[in-house]
Amino acid sequence: MKKNCLEIVRQKCESCTGCALAKTRNNVVFSDGDASTAKIVLIGEAPGEMEDETGRPFVGRAGQLLTEFLTEAGISRDRDVYMINTVKCRPPENRVPTDEEKAACRKFLDAQIDIIKPDAIILCGATALKSFVNLDKKQTISKVRGQWMTVTVDGVEYKAMTIFHPSYLLRNHSMADGSPRRLMQEDLRNIKNTILPDVDNISSGNNITFGSLVNV
Ligand code: SF4
Repeated sequence: MKKNCLEIVRQKCESCTGCALAKTRNNVVFSDGDASTAKIVLIGEAPGEMEDETGRPFVGRAGQLLTEFLTEAGISRDRDVYMINTVKCRPPENRVPTDEEKAACRKFLDAQIDIIKPDAIILCGATALKSFVNLDKKQTISKVRGQWMTVTVDGVEYKAMTIFHPSYLLRNHSMADGSPRRLMQEDLRNIKNTILPDVDNISSGNNITFGSLVNV
């Protein structure tokens, strides 16, 4: 049922010319993950070059690093997470999508969440966070990340947490206590233990070395 509904939304999305990004895209990047099993919707910023080429979100270096972190936390990218972006078409030069582009694409984002009805939403990076929360000047992603909050989509409240975007982690390699990578690890373990407490861990445990998939 979910898959049928999502397929209808996907078809509309793939023919969408609702903003200027339609002119420069190669592919609409609708989603990745199994809608019938995913308990988490993860929302990123926008497709990049690899995503535009393949039509799948989070497949470039940042996406590979995110997959590593999810696996280490015991979260299966294929089974547990439905991945989407705030806009479905790549902004030129990987710039941040404008408010107008995000607003034009919002109907697809809201429809995806409404159909999945996840147990939790992960807001991955500042652009996703700002799509749901009005931040005051003192609230940076470093201060907001890791905290459970509530976001509302079409009148339904969802548990949500903000995490760093993996692109940021590609520029911050340290795994020292308090480092962005260590905080990412803690946040994803928190999400796993809260949302998927009964799911067996799928990682190899303490031996995982970040960067094994991505040469950073
Ligand atoms: S980004 Fe969204 S609104 Fe803009 S053309 Fe693509 S699908 Fe349509």
